[in-house]
Amino acid sequence: MKLEGARVLVTGGGAGIGRHLVERLLADGAGVAVLELDAARCTGLAEATGGKVRAEACDVTDADAVDAALQTLFDAGFEPDVLVNNAGIIHSEPLVNLLSRGDKVHSREAWRRVIATDLDSVFFVTSRVVERMLAKRIKGVVVSISSIAAGGNAGQSAYAAAKAGVNALTHTWAKELGAMGLRFAAIAPGFFDTPSTRAALSEAVLTRLQQQIPLRRLGELESLYLAVRHVIENDYLTGTVLEVDGGLVI
Ligand code: NDP
Repeated sequence: MKLEGARVLVTGGGAGIGRHLVERLLADGAGVAVLELDAARCTGLAEATGGKVRAEACDVTDADAVDAALQTLFDAGFEPDVLVNNAGIIHSEPLVNLLSRGDKVHSREAWRRVIATDLDSVFFVTSRVVERMLAKRIKGVVVSISSIAAGGNAGQSAYAAAKAGVNALTHTWAKELGAMGLRFAAIAPGFFDTPSTRAALSEAVLTRLQQQIPLRRLGELESLYLAVRHVIENDYLTGTVLEVDGGLVI
């Protein structure tokens, strides 16, 4: 698909990786809409882009809210050619912590919150967007931001399970909808220098990690944008989980 002129919907486009993707997609001539939790971030995004981005405040863990926000976009004439499932939260917690004073097992509330944000959201948004693409005969592309944690990561039960689910959905939908001309891919970042990474991991852990990465550094957001663009533009690519991790998972 040609990126210039394509209409791209990005979830969680108000901050971090999503925000970078939005700015770069715009710069490369795509039309961009965003679903974002924080209403103030939506207004800020619209203002910062001179009204070029249409941002709808929406909690993507809420199926009804997703349906309503997408209908608003469709009614306004925004027909997505590309969906980027980016909204997500990182959560680290051991399965059992014997030193904890309270409940020693992984918080059930945190488990639900992570699965809802990182996996349910992908199902809710993609199902409605694909329905629309099929109705409008758009041979669209769905790119989901997964993680190398999908392969299993100590101390990240919920996050790893959610991202493994995202990869499974990517494979499933590629097989189910390829005959209709729709393509699906996941991008699995390693460790990127973002506020969410620094909030989740201590400086000591990050320093140790960088010694294990063959390229010896954290990733820069631009390499994720280049991966998203590659997925959009390469029409023979589907069902792939593309690792962008400096060689960490070899
Ligand atoms: P950030 O927390 O910086 O940004 C996430 C964005 O998603 C924010 O705009 C946030 O909105 C939005 N969001 C969160 N929950 C919801 C929700 N329920 N409904 C709508 N929007 C929501 O995270 P990153 O940019 O670091 O991560 C983006 C994606 O990349 C995630 O899926 C993450 O798992 C994945 N990833 C990140 C890596 C990294 O190194 N940072 C590594 C591997 C994967 P708000 O701020 O208003 O809450």
